[in-house]
Amino acid sequence: MPNQETSLREILETLQAEPKANASALPVTCALCQLVEKSVLTALSFFFDEFVNDHAIRVNIRKSRGFCPEHTQTLRQRGDALAIAILYSDLLDQTLAQWKEKPPSRPRFALGRNAPNSPQAPCPACAVAEEATTRYVNALAQGLESLETRTALEAAPSLCVAHVERVLTQAKPHAGKFLLELERGRLEALYAELEEAIRKNDYRFRHEEWGAEKDAWLRALTRLTRPE
Ligand SMILES: [Zn+2]
Ligand SMILES: [Zn+2]
Repeated sequence: MPNQETSLREILETLQAEPKANASALPVTCALCQLVEKSVLTALSFFFDEFVNDHAIRVNIRKSRGFCPEHTQTLRQRGDALAIAILYSDLLDQTLAQWKEKPPSRPRFALGRNAPNSPQAPCPACAVAEEATTRYVNALAQGLESLETRTALEAAPSLCVAHVERVLTQAKPHAGKFLLELERGRLEALYAELEEAIRKNDYRFRHEEWGAEKDAWLRALTRLTRPE
């Protein structure tokens, strides 16, 4: 597993990378979101190379009964048709056996217990994402104490709210204060842009030219997702 220093180096490289021209014209996402997503994609590649031959991986995926909706979308984009066919025939076989043995039905006693066939393990990709998040959050919280990291954060696009909050729970007070003030200023600016976009949608101001606030709604979607 990469150590904290390696993880911080990856964060700095991501912060310092030129934003890629992306075809969908979506705003650049938070550096930690990018790194977590990269970790998930790497793990999925490994998973699809290995699961056919690796009994432990197959047992685990049976326990989780597949992937969450977000990562199912990732699998669809990867498009490994044969591997998915093999994996999902196994999962469907399991589901059919469970339906035969314990058909899902309304529980007789509402004791808040799990439904009979509910997954016994988290989505494997979510588990990888959580491990990667913890690793990068700790590395950045530690790295905030260096001038190099602070300079890179100031020059790079914002982190998302969920990751800022996670880093702040791990940072020493003076280092946390730096990040909080930096990102609070950026959120206030985004808030003002949203307000401006709302104002310009008013018929009385429709003739006014649009500026950077035009895509503020897209940046807001990237910036604020519900913390897990
Ligand atoms: Zn993020
Ligand atoms: Zn997932």
